[in-house]
Amino acid sequence: MRIRLTSFGSPLACAALICVVLLLSSGTTAAQSKDYLFNDSHFHLTNYIQEGTDIHDFLKVMGNKVGRSTLFGIPLQQQWSYRVDGDRAPSYYLNSDAPLYYYSFTDASIAMAYRSLSKEERARFDPMITGFNPADMYAADHIRRVLQTFPGVFSGIGEFTIHKEFVSAKIESELASLQDKALDRLLDFAAETGLVVLIHNDVDVPFAKEGAPPAYLDQLKALFKRHPNATIIWAHIGVGRVVRPVKEQAAIVEQMVQDPELSHVYFDISWSEVAKYIVASEASRTNAANMINRYPDRFLFGTDEVAPANQEAYLRVYNQYGSLWPLLDPAASEKLRKGNYERIFDQARAKVRAWERAHVKRSGSD
Ligand SMILES: [Zn+2]
Repeated sequence: MRIRLTSFGSPLACAALICVVLLLSSGTTAAQSKDYLFNDSHFHLTNYIQEGTDIHDFLKVMGNKVGRSTLFGIPLQQQWSYRVDGDRAPSYYLNSDAPLYYYSFTDASIAMAYRSLSKEERARFDPMITGFNPADMYAADHIRRVLQTFPGVFSGIGEFTIHKEFVSAKIESELASLQDKALDRLLDFAAETGLVVLIHNDVDVPFAKEGAPPAYLDQLKALFKRHPNATIIWAHIGVGRVVRPVKEQAAIVEQMVQDPELSHVYFDISWSEVAKYIVASEASRTNAANMINRYPDRFLFGTDEVAPANQEAYLRVYNQYGSLWPLLDPAASEKLRKGNYERIFDQARAKVRAWERAHVKRSGSD
């Protein structure tokens, strides 16, 4: 077949032009990746009623400000109980007394959104599996099934929740526990596959008694120590809306960072509530900055935004940390915002793809 190339004169000139265009476009990508502010280690594309930002719109929201991002929905669906809320449709767990339930379809939904992207666009995302009940011994089987159904997609599991203020008690199911064999099975499977584990577990109960030891710290550390081969990120360093940093929080984190049996555990400083505590005062800011400067390989920045409508909303938490950034050593800041994410998730991608090659019969078209 003969192709007419009137405007370019000859096939050779055309090929040369294509080369120039390709060079220019790859140059643009390189410039973007050098200049972006951060990689997002904690991001929800959809909300508590499984609605959210179209992934193509989200790419525009990331623009050249954010390099890569994790990608997950929310494993829990807020029920709209007409008996309880009438026509007032709740969209957040705090909007209603009606329960939450595990919504496994979120994983298929995230996988399909990811697959709707081009190869270059996909490279910017690390999708995570969340649609399982961590109190169920079969949770690990769900994850295996998701990897088998959507090979080539996922890099981690989470954010999933064991103890979370206002949420745990609302879940229409047996209460999750850090001492549950089901959770051990889950983390064993994560270690086997290389899936990064992003776990939310408050360090304490809400409105804890002054001076009492943090309710869940010992159980949590014991859980982490039982799974030395899993790569674990402890979301929000265990604090929440009313679960304030316990008095010795900095000492607790430092002790964990120094514990050789916890060298596989990382800490994310995502969520506006965490930023609120860290930037609250000169002292809290300096303490946090000193910790990150001393152990720059162990902390990750994330937004914890849920289905942001525009870039301003998406960068809210990054901007909230505005007074922390100048206190960080340049190298530590770079690791917190970008480098640690890349190291952890690049390794996970390679491991999970290798597991899939060995365990998924037909590795799919992509
Ligand atoms: Zn979150």
